[in-house]
Amino acid sequence: MKLVFASNNKNKILEIRHQLPPKIELLSLEDIGCYEDIPETADTIEGNAILKANYVAEKYGYNCFADDTGLEVDALNGAPGVYSARYAGEQKSAEDNMAKLLQELEGNSNRQANFKTVIALNLDGKQLLFTGIVEGSITTECHGTGGFGYDPIFIPVGESRTFAQLSLDEKALISHRGRAVAQLIAFLKS
Ligand code: IMP
Repeated sequence: MKLVFASNNKNKILEIRHQLPPKIELLSLEDIGCYEDIPETADTIEGNAILKANYVAEKYGYNCFADDTGLEVDALNGAPGVYSARYAGEQKSAEDNMAKLLQELEGNSNRQANFKTVIALNLDGKQLLFTGIVEGSITTECHGTGGFGYDPIFIPVGESRTFAQLSLDEKALISHRGRAVAQLIAFLKS
């Protein structure tokens, strides 16, 4: 069975391809000749995952899944959430985003936050959602050089290190995306 992952992120594609049963052929957007920017105009993480999965299913006719992720900070009523990538502006800079978040939280003792990933799967005309969440807290300064995005300022619950100080394997085991992907793969194998 051919299944499209509505992404061109090579790391994510490799990771997921590696975990899928051999009967599933995982295709990227490039593989199906989709080069346009898929609109991500919803105001929720779920909504954006659904928009992307529906776009590919409707326009290209493939079974497909799409993911969307956001960092939700309690003291900021869930911001930056669905706007995590462009929190500090359209340049989508991780450094600028982290600097803005640390500034917003300056002097605030409530550092609780969570990462949430939603995967929308469109399979044979039906849609399923898989959600992975990791709870944690926001540091007061950056620690570590691994990962991407907000990793240097997020400490998952039960850890003393930030995501940026964990190995890829350690992060994948407990991360929002790792948890959502594990549910997707268990479903596809069943
Ligand atoms: P996307 O939906 O996977 O593109 O994620 C949206 C934004 O959330 C990214 O641009 C990052 O700023 C942030 N983000 C997503 N996943 C992670 C992660 O695993 N660690 C840190 N930041 C992340």
